Amino acid sequence: MDKISIIVPCYNEEKALPGFYRETADAVKDIEGAECEFIFVDDGSQDHTPDILESLSCMDDRCRYISFSRNFGKEAAMYAGLQNSSGDYCVFMDADLQHPPKLLKEMYRVVKTEGYDCCAGLREDRTGESKMRSLLSRAFYKIIKRICNLDMGDGKGDFRMMSRTMADSILELREYNRYMKGIFSFVGFDTKWIPFHNVERTAGETKWSFRSLMHYAVDGILSFSSAPATMAGTAGAVLILAAVLTAVCTALFSGSLNGITLLICLVLLLNGIQMFFISVLGQYVSKDYMESKKRPIYIVKKKRGFSELSGEHQAGCRAV
Ligand code: UDP
Ligand code: MG
Repeated sequence: MDKISIIVPCYNEEKALPGFYRETADAVKDIEGAECEFIFVDDGSQDHTPDILESLSCMDDRCRYISFSRNFGKEAAMYAGLQNSSGDYCVFMDADLQHPPKLLKEMYRVVKTEGYDCCAGLREDRTGESKMRSLLSRAFYKIIKRICNLDMGDGKGDFRMMSRTMADSILELREYNRYMKGIFSFVGFDTKWIPFHNVERTAGETKWSFRSLMHYAVDGILSFSSAPATMAGTAGAVLILAAVLTAVCTALFSGSLNGITLLICLVLLLNGIQMFFISVLGQYVSKDYMESKKRPIYIVKKKRGFSELSGEHQAGCRAV
């Protein structure tokens, strides 16, 4: 019998949690061949979320919870949930029922029988979201797709069921600033996407303010790309080129450089050189920043025929 760990980050979700538990517990009844555990992570809620989690854990022994000392953010809650999970498969779900529980059955079927390491929900639309947020999110995903060499498209969220191997490799990434969408993409593994429609959250309010979304976007870009430092270099090169072109054109067309043109060229040139070297410095700093994360150099999906085999492989070899 497989075990599926359902990891649910919760921040002030007293209104949404009872409905979430009811619907999800109902949906997992239909899954054959697997049992479930719920791992709720109370991310420093100030409402009655901890009390609800306490009563759920008393009522149903499949429910466990962890309470943070303060609000550390959804990414930290997902990490803690994963660290404390013991399932053969793990799935992240939001507490507000925006991730449909009825997809769990299909996700399990895909990871179990189709050979995928991960089955993820692909949100097809942004129903129930403010126009401004949709616009900014779309723009952000366009930018991040261009500048980070990773697959982080719009609609590719955290709602995904993954194998233990993939979950363990996510846990190997111990960086403090965790941008989960980037991490999923960084660790790789075969993922099947199943589309679903967005719905409004069942109860409570979104925890994202404009400011926190902006922070999240900047964190995402800085965690996985040194493009901003490269951009400074490009801007520097453009300024140097502009200085040279202005000087050459003025000299060619008017025979000499007057004081004001010379001053403009000098300002452009010096600023350009400065920006260029700031960018060089930025590249070194960003390399050091990436090194400090101590990310694994590679991630192994399967290993066979080596003397130091994992338990699973050893068992496989003995059987042969
Ligand atoms: N969440 C959390 N910590 C936070 C913010 C959010 O654990 O600091 C949880 C929240 O309780 C929910 C999930 O993350 O279960 C998604 O949050 P929300 O629905 O507010 O995000 P949205 O759907 O608007 O992107
Ligand atoms: Mg939500």
